[in-house]
Amino acid sequence: MGSDVLIKNGMVMDGSGEPARKADVIIDGDRIKDIGSFPDAAASRVIDATGLVVAPGFIDAHTHLDFFFASPRHADVLESWAHQGVTTIVAGNCGYSPAPINHDHVDTVSAYWNFAFPRDGLEFEWTTMAEFLDHLEKIGQAFNVGILTGHGMLRTNVMGFEARFAEPDEIAEMKRMLRESIEAGSIGLSLGLYYVPGIYAHTDEIMEVASVLSDFGAPLVPHTRGMSETYAEAVREVVQIAEELQIPLHLSHHGSFIRDDPSIMERAERTIDEARKRGVEIGHDFIPYSTGSTTLLSLFPPEMFDGGLDKFFARLEDPLVRKRIIHGWETVVPGWPNWEHSWWTDNHYHNAFSSWSLICLSGFRKDGNKRFENMSVEQIAAKLEKDPFDTVFDLVLEEKGTIIVTGGAFDNPMDDDSVAAAASDPNASICSDIVGGDHGTINPVAYGAFPRVLGRIARDGGHMTIEEAVRKMTSLPAAQMGLKDRGSLRAGAFADITVFNPDTVIDRASFANPHQMSEGIEYVLINGKVILENGTYHADALAGHVIRRA
Ligand SMILES: [Zn+2]
Repeated sequence: MGSDVLIKNGMVMDGSGEPARKADVIIDGDRIKDIGSFPDAAASRVIDATGLVVAPGFIDAHTHLDFFFASPRHADVLESWAHQGVTTIVAGNCGYSPAPINHDHVDTVSAYWNFAFPRDGLEFEWTTMAEFLDHLEKIGQAFNVGILTGHGMLRTNVMGFEARFAEPDEIAEMKRMLRESIEAGSIGLSLGLYYVPGIYAHTDEIMEVASVLSDFGAPLVPHTRGMSETYAEAVREVVQIAEELQIPLHLSHHGSFIRDDPSIMERAERTIDEARKRGVEIGHDFIPYSTGSTTLLSLFPPEMFDGGLDKFFARLEDPLVRKRIIHGWETVVPGWPNWEHSWWTDNHYHNAFSSWSLICLSGFRKDGNKRFENMSVEQIAAKLEKDPFDTVFDLVLEEKGTIIVTGGAFDNPMDDDSVAAAASDPNASICSDIVGGDHGTINPVAYGAFPRVLGRIARDGGHMTIEEAVRKMTSLPAAQMGLKDRGSLRAGAFADITVFNPDTVIDRASFANPHQMSEGIEYVLINGKVILENGTYHADALAGHVIRRA
């Protein structure tokens, strides 16, 4: 006796990608004690894993649950992550983190980044990253959480939404807040150079702020300055920063929206390959679907936000401004650098989303608008008997900007091959990039991302071994994000463990039917505690740790 849990007779995939081997895993407290062969009597609880794979718990390396872990409701709402085998979730991506926060800008942040907030709002009971992480610990966490510090938040705290380069004293203040945040345990710096206010930052500002990371070896995690026509230049910008500062680089949702010009991705990949040969550490994450969601506000011309959201809403009332926006959407091709092209980094109306019939809206608050939930702009415009552009402008004003946009190829099997090819890149870790987790989004990522890769892409599609798929969900993201003692099964590591049936594991959620739990994940343990067994999720276990960068 003595140990707490013994997982017997499973096929152990340790997260390294090496072939599975039959072994038992024995757990003491929150750590793995040993892997080998042990009698039933060695532990107070025995789990029979005959015919099942025993893997490290999966790590969702990129989410927009950024502000949601501070809600006491998070454990209930995030059940679908447990049914995917996820044990650790990274948030604070794309430039936005819940801390540090200047309380003067809470309203702006809550409106612009609304999809990452709890539906019922949030009391900011903290200012610094240290206070925020303490708060998460105090309310208890269902999953292990790692929090990046967002450059967009640092910039908002210092200078709001001003469309200009930062002054040296403003950059110094951003650096001070970043250092304090990393020292408190934040795991790295995220950039949102496509979002306001990161879109207004010069490369020199990013280089200077990110230089703080050099003292910690912490990763730079960018949503690049453009993911369409200028993607190759945008990748080169962050590669140069990482190389000069000698810090690890982790590209968020790596890829370009421009499908008909393969030279863009070829140039980006060449930049990455050559930098790797020079010793730059570069990884990335990947969403296993061909659709994306974000705030509808991010489609608007960047200069519209100069001076803050109140000014944006006032401008949007003006019919002449509306005409200029439409003209921009119909004609702008982003150029490099974006500050010489009215700040535009992407024209997603034109490329990624391309048609009002492929742009769906969700997250409505006003009772009168809830009937439009998850409809396309084209459908909503038809119901309102209005022009689609005015439909969008009026809804943005009515909802004060808090609308989620989802666009791309919904449930289009033609896209499966390109998704599988991108997922097969050995440096791609898997992520959900969930947007609107508490807002009833139709995007199935919240339910299916990880079982989709295991079942459809690896097992059924044969694009990689199950062992390799597991590596991309465990040891790879743990290394990319610097998560110590996570993502591998070995003596001494944290006992985050996912036990799944390799023959049946599969995602069931689609855009047509999004709220369906995945199947085949049999047991999930977080820090040695069972949080999922026989289909039952223990929301009250609160077994997660707030991960602090050592
Ligand atoms: Zn992003």
